[in-house]
Amino acid sequence: MPIKVLDSRVVSQIAAGEVVERPASVVKELVENSLDASSSQVSIEVRGGGVNLIRVADNGVGIPRAELELAFERYATSKIDALDDLEAISTLGFRGEALPSIAAVAEVEVVTCAAGEQAGSYLSLRDGAAVGRGSRGHSRGTTVTVKNLFRRVPARLKFLKSLATENSHIAGVVSQYALAFPGVRFTLLIEGRVGLRSPGSGQLVDSVTEVYGLDVARNMLAIGREPASIPRVTGMVSSPAVNRSGRGYLSFFVNRRWITSRLLARAVDDAYSGLLMQGRHPVAIIDVSLQPGELDVNIHPTKTEVKFRNERIVFAAVQRAVRRTLVEQMPVPGIREPAATYLSPEPGRGTGTVATGRGAIATSGEPSLTPAASLPVLRVLGQLLASYIIAEGPDGLYLIDQHAAHERVLFEKVRRQRSQQEMEIQGLLEPATFEVTPRQEEVLRANYQRLAEFGFSIEPFGDRTCLVRAVPVLLYNKDWVGMLRELLDSLSGEGGGGGEEKVAASIACHSAVRAGQTLSYEEMRQLVRELEQAAMPNTCPHGRPTMIHLGLAQLEKEFGRRL
Ligand code: ADP
Ligand code: MG
Repeated sequence: MPIKVLDSRVVSQIAAGEVVERPASVVKELVENSLDASSSQVSIEVRGGGVNLIRVADNGVGIPRAELELAFERYATSKIDALDDLEAISTLGFRGEALPSIAAVAEVEVVTCAAGEQAGSYLSLRDGAAVGRGSRGHSRGTTVTVKNLFRRVPARLKFLKSLATENSHIAGVVSQYALAFPGVRFTLLIEGRVGLRSPGSGQLVDSVTEVYGLDVARNMLAIGREPASIPRVTGMVSSPAVNRSGRGYLSFFVNRRWITSRLLARAVDDAYSGLLMQGRHPVAIIDVSLQPGELDVNIHPTKTEVKFRNERIVFAAVQRAVRRTLVEQMPVPGIREPAATYLSPEPGRGTGTVATGRGAIATSGEPSLTPAASLPVLRVLGQLLASYIIAEGPDGLYLIDQHAAHERVLFEKVRRQRSQQEMEIQGLLEPATFEVTPRQEEVLRANYQRLAEFGFSIEPFGDRTCLVRAVPVLLYNKDWVGMLRELLDSLSGEGGGGGEEKVAASIACHSAVRAGQTLSYEEMRQLVRELEQAAMPNTCPHGRPTMIHLGLAQLEKEFGRRL
């Protein structure tokens, strides 16, 4: 094909791809515009996972009638004049790309009324071009309606995940802004249901309550003020009793811009060192205030990453502020009332030790993994560190990780019961309530049926709470609350695939014996017997080894009996 300059419509569709990746990106850009317009109320409504409809309404300064069409020109912005202005940027937007990008890939209508104007004005666009304009009543502020997102960009549409997943991303974005702007009243309607409603009280703890629930909010510590500290670090962090298996509960803002930052995540993890088990992370909402000149916000089209001029200083300030908060305010264990729902018996005590132990053996002994078909009959010799079963086989020594092995056995059992529709279910004496975040709520909604097939009887109870009436027998008296929470978090990240396996693995993990649990000889024999019969005895459902084999040849080599 000869070289030619692309048609302007194609250019804008390509450019839009950088800003508008999925429905949640549209929500993010529109909400940022509303916040930049000094709104105290922002309402978001989405339908069809945001593909059919996204509507964001605010009570901000509005767009003057004369500028309304200009707002949809590429690189049209009221926020900066020259590149130097970026050195002092205090708004979330500045690239002038969002509105034209959205209009390039969807049908858009804006109704707005600026301060001092008598009547509102509206503009509607198709394929980025204005097709309708005029007057329309509107109170001060702006309402942007986006319909049929990506209808003309089938390639993008194809890459979207399930409705529940897109909705969970949207709920995630709005949750982050509700945390960053506690003074703004946010309302999120997802498919006609209230997904989130923050009071706009100006108190961060109120936003935390809305997003993460009362039990988390009660266990949050406000970061203490350190007047001299530059940069200033504000926000809240959880007492170590409230912790999570992923980093999904760490929210970072720089000058209230929501960002992702490995640097800051490391600083927070660092501050909790010694207070949390390996692999666990706190809930944290942290805003770093910096002179705008101290950072570059223009390194990413979606503005979700920033570059600090002096990373070391920012890292140290966050690490210190969090550490000091923990040291000064940490509740004395056992005296404060524990959070009833979330503080179920802490599972996995000592899992850190298992990991270290396994690593240590694995590096010194060059163990080999036994292939499934050849797992021989084993004779149990005893238990090591209350975590490993020592067994003898025809060809040397086997060290079995009791938790991983039990996980494998239960995983296969759950899958078998599930496929034969024979899940053993235990009704709870009294139905228990279970709090979910807006994001988890969306995932739960999409998975009621699947969870029911695994033996969970769960129903919505309103106000971000569900009622649990029955659980799989395996989980009765176990930490099924923690299991459900982790499961909902891990399901939310992806589409429909792999869900069955995840539920089964999660049930297995939370009902299996723990490291650190002393087992009787009979219990060990039973477990080894079941492992011998497993279809894939070598690894746990997450792919970690269940056992290490030290063969006769290896032993002889180690003892110098053979060269
Ligand atoms: P940017 O936010 O980077 O300036 P956008 O394309 O998002 O670029 O918006 C273009 C302009 O339209 C903004 O600079 C602002 O002047 C105006 N605008 C957009 N949304 C709103 C809103 N909700 N309220 C008031 N003004 C708005
Ligand atoms: Mg913008």
